[in-house]
Amino acid sequence: MGNHRQVTEPVSVPDARGYYGEYGGRFVPETLVPALDELIEAFESAMADPAFLTRFADLQATYTGRPTPLTYARRLSDHLGGARIYLKREDLAHTGAHKINNALGQALLAERMGKRRIVAETGAGQHGVAAATACALLGLECHVYMGSVDMARQRPNVFRMQLLGAEVIPVESGSRTLKDAINEAIRDWVTNVDTTHYLLGSALGPHPYPLMVREFQSVIGIEARQQMIEQAGRLPDTVIACVGGGSNAIGIFHAFRDDDPIDLIGVEAGGCGIGSGEHAARFADPATGRPGVLHGTRSYVLQDADGQIRNTYSVSAGLDYAAVGPEHAYLRQLERAFYTYATDDEALSAFQTLCQLEGIIPALESAHAVAETIKRAPAMPRDSIILVNLSGRGDKDLDTVIAQLGGQA
Ligand SMILES: *Cc1c(COP(=O)(O)O)cnc(C)c1O
Repeated sequence: MGNHRQVTEPVSVPDARGYYGEYGGRFVPETLVPALDELIEAFESAMADPAFLTRFADLQATYTGRPTPLTYARRLSDHLGGARIYLKREDLAHTGAHKINNALGQALLAERMGKRRIVAETGAGQHGVAAATACALLGLECHVYMGSVDMARQRPNVFRMQLLGAEVIPVESGSRTLKDAINEAIRDWVTNVDTTHYLLGSALGPHPYPLMVREFQSVIGIEARQQMIEQAGRLPDTVIACVGGGSNAIGIFHAFRDDDPIDLIGVEAGGCGIGSGEHAARFADPATGRPGVLHGTRSYVLQDADGQIRNTYSVSAGLDYAAVGPEHAYLRQLERAFYTYATDDEALSAFQTLCQLEGIIPALESAHAVAETIKRAPAMPRDSIILVNLSGRGDKDLDTVIAQLGGQA
C-alpha cells in the first residue's frame, strides 16, 4: 500500500520538555510554569495509579458508554465498490462526540489535584458542553469562555451549558470567536492558578496538554484496533480522521502508529477551497500555513506575511481553528501520517451520502473524513479496509445543513 516510508526515528514522543521534534514545547507566561509542572506531576502519577485508571475506566463504561461500537458500512462499501469501510462510532458516546473522553479525564485529574474550579474555552460549544457535563458529574465549578459571535450562532449549546450548571462568559475582544475565548481562559487561569484547572479541549496548548489529551483520547484507537481484529480478522490498511486541533485523529492514530505500513490520513477543513483563502487547512498551503507559536505551542499556524494569525473558515465549527496540534506537525514531517483536506461542498455531499446509505447522521467535522474515504475507497482493492473515525453525530449541525442545502436534502 501507498506512499509511506519506513519510520526510522523514534515516535514515542514527546521528549521531557514536551517537544515533538521541533514542534510543541511550552510558550507561556512565567506564572504558569509551576502550574504546568504540577500538572505534569499529577498526570504522571495518575496514569501510574491503578485506582485512578480503574475509576476512569468505570466511568467510561458506565457513563460515557464505552466501548463505542465499530460498524461495518456495508452499503457505503458496496456503493463505492472498493475498500471495505468500518466506522468507529464516537458519535454514540455520551454528549455525541469524542470530546467527553478528554473532558472526563481532565476533570478527574483536576479533582485529584484538589482544584475544584474549572475554566474552559469553547468555539461552537461542543467542548464547553463536554466540560460542563464532566463538571456536573464530579461536582466541580465550571466557567466557560465563549466569543460573543459564537454565542449568538450557537444558542442551543449556550443553553445546554447553563442547564448543566456552568457559567458561560461572553468574550468581546478580537474577532469574538474561539481564538479570543482561549486568550481569556488563559488569562483567567494565570489569575486563579492556585484554585483552578484549565480544561483545554484539543491536542493543543503548552506541554503537557497535547500529551495528556492524546492519552485520554487514545482509548478510541485501542478499542478500534481490538474490534477490527474481532470483526474483520485483521487490521485496516488505512485510518482516516478529521483534524481540527487534532484530538480525535491522534486518539485513533496512536494505537496504529507502530503498525507500519498502515496509512494514517488526517483531513483538514478546505472550506471554500485553498485558493479562496477561506479555509482552515494549515498544511495545505505553504504560503499561509507555516510553523509558528499560538496559544503556548509551536506548530503549523495559518498566518499572514507579518505573522498575524489569519481568520479561518469552515462550514464545520469544530475544524475552524488557525493552529493544529504539534504532534500532527511532527507525524507529517516524519511522513508517518499524511494530511489532506475536504471542502465544504465535499463534506456536505459526504454527509448526505452517509445519511442515505447507512442511516447515520454524522457531525460535519466527521463528514470531512467520510469525504476523503469516498475519494479513496473506489481505487482500493475489495479485500482492503479503511477505518474511519466518526468523531461525532450531526444533530448539532442540522440548522447549518438546512441553510447550506436550501431545504433540499
Ligand atoms: C470538536 C470536534 C472535532 C475537532 O476537534 P479535534 O480536536 O480535531 O478532534 C471533530 N469532530 C467533532 C464531532 C467535534 O465535536
